[in-house]
Amino acid sequence: MFLLRRFLVLLLVGCVAIPCTRLSADEAARSANSMSVEETLKTLNARLSWDPFFKSGKLISRGHEAVFFAAGSNEVPAAHSSENTAVIYDNKDILTLQAPFINNGKLYFPPLFVASLKQLFDESQQEDASRFRIAAIIIDPGHGGKDEGASADYVVNGKKVRLIEKDITLAVSKRLYTSLKNRYPGKKVFITRLNDTYPSLEDRVVQANSVPLKDNEAIIYISIHANASLNKSARGFEVWYLSPEHRRTVLDKTKYTGPNALTAIFNSMLEEEFTTESIEMAKAIENNFKKNFSTLMPSRGLKAEEWYVVRKARMPSVLVELGFVTNAEDARLLSDPAYLQQFSLSIYNGIVDFVTKFENWNLAS
Ligand SMILES: [Zn+2]
Repeated sequence: MFLLRRFLVLLLVGCVAIPCTRLSADEAARSANSMSVEETLKTLNARLSWDPFFKSGKLISRGHEAVFFAAGSNEVPAAHSSENTAVIYDNKDILTLQAPFINNGKLYFPPLFVASLKQLFDESQQEDASRFRIAAIIIDPGHGGKDEGASADYVVNGKKVRLIEKDITLAVSKRLYTSLKNRYPGKKVFITRLNDTYPSLEDRVVQANSVPLKDNEAIIYISIHANASLNKSARGFEVWYLSPEHRRTVLDKTKYTGPNALTAIFNSMLEEEFTTESIEMAKAIENNFKKNFSTLMPSRGLKAEEWYVVRKARMPSVLVELGFVTNAEDARLLSDPAYLQQFSLSIYNGIVDFVTKFENWNLAS
């Protein structure tokens, strides 16, 4: 689409109009059978980018676009207003329509051209409305601040090293956060903490609630943790999803002292759940772990358990346990920045796989 680069964004009708003094009978007849730029834009609820040099235009309506070429020229009246033009719709479909034309320096649109595009734009919009969309992604690095999570001590090259869960989760989450932000500029990507702090539940709710959701939109939630066990041979990564049968909030009443209203919100959030989607996302992440870690670290499989925070119904959510800080082999990977990057990449690829699949499911199907 080399032409697109040349487009000048001209939103106003006046930009394409060269005032004409008097219409010839022929021109008047043709204009009567056509629509002005203003009428066209109003009908299509669109705006126009117009390149006078190439006599090509782009009509943009609600996220969809149609590129066309006009017949005629600024100097010479259009020879045939019945000339056809190729219209490129959303950069992929090509259709042939009666061409818009330039007459006496003004651009006109044949009513058929406008009607066809209106139908296309309307259909696209209906499709958009019925498509699921992930509006936001929340990444939650487990623990933080005075809550260290799991920890274990090792001696590496004669030096004592302390492996702490809150540091591992933050390192992996920050990288994931950056990658997802770059990948999805149109989505809101949140991280519940960027430092060694413990975000209150209230902070998390405020973040989640700051995203207004349409009916077909969802937020996904990924919590990242590292495991620990008294059994030092226990190792491997796990991905947990919200179980349909066992639900409780993380909102542990003995710890949580925030406003009661929040408790109510959380409880109502758990009335429904996105179990299927959570399982899909968990699977996608596990698959990518397996791909990236192969024999380095075993998968302990997908797990369903009672947990969790999660906002309202529309939140497929998973909790990732990266490995065991209490296992020497896992600990070697968890203390190596290169492997932390691999963990982050695996989760990132899993989320991208899931989002792609999710956004191509149709509500109607
Ligand atoms: Zn944890």
